[in-house]
Amino acid sequence: MDRLTASWGPFRADRRLWRVSRRGRIDTTAPTTDETPLARTRRARRIHRILAETYPDAHCELDFTNPLELLVATILSAQSTDVRVNMVTPALFRRYRAAADYAGGDRTELETMIASTGFFRAKTNFLIGLGQALVERYAGQVPARLDDLVTLPGVGRKTANVVLGNAFDIPGITVDTHFGRLSRRFGWTEETDPVKVEEEVAAIFPKRDWTLLSHRLIWHGRRVCHARKPACGACPVAALCPAYGEGEVDAAKAIKLVKSAPQVAAAL
Ligand code: SF4
Repeated sequence: MDRLTASWGPFRADRRLWRVSRRGRIDTTAPTTDETPLARTRRARRIHRILAETYPDAHCELDFTNPLELLVATILSAQSTDVRVNMVTPALFRRYRAAADYAGGDRTELETMIASTGFFRAKTNFLIGLGQALVERYAGQVPARLDDLVTLPGVGRKTANVVLGNAFDIPGITVDTHFGRLSRRFGWTEETDPVKVEEEVAAIFPKRDWTLLSHRLIWHGRRVCHARKPACGACPVAALCPAYGEGEVDAAKAIKLVKSAPQVAAAL
């Protein structure tokens, strides 16, 4: 269980950041219009430090033991949930151990094994094509370069960065729906194009932080800063967030919007 859902510890730890008005609301100190780039960078890194304290266990929630397994799991996770993918992959990885296994895989069998992740025909095409491309061009190994990864069937920039960051320990920013939304709410970017979001956020943080920053934003988006009803009144970075007030600011109501670890797991 992550610290946020286990206790109110992070909120207590960051009480110094909060200015509570007479109406019981938090007065934020985060400007949006005339903030200098330096001030924005400092505020962004402060937000990241708080999220690091709040989610010390943030990690990739797909199960894998090697780069090929993570690549396959990430392809399967499109339009699906991590929990669902993690239910499918143990049997798949026992039977398909190498790129050559996918290259010569039986289409019907593969479709059946991954059916519950959705879009199984397209995903089967990707997995067979992926295996063939890895065998033909990379001696059956998953390449550790973004430019190579994005040439593989079913692999976009987001998937490539997941694999680089989590299987190869090469820093990468994963711009999924949560990362994009939070980056805009934090005022780190106004872009909606994932590649531009990645570029702008990458300029704010040191490269070594990119992978964990991605996990922490995604965890915060899944637990507190929801798309429709962000729990602003229960948010550990409220005082630094220009979007404070987009969601519920009453602490008692907001805490009910925070998703517990089991709730997040069920939705993954
Ligand atoms: S929950 Fe509210 S205060 Fe917290 S990051 Fe999201 S928009 Fe900002």
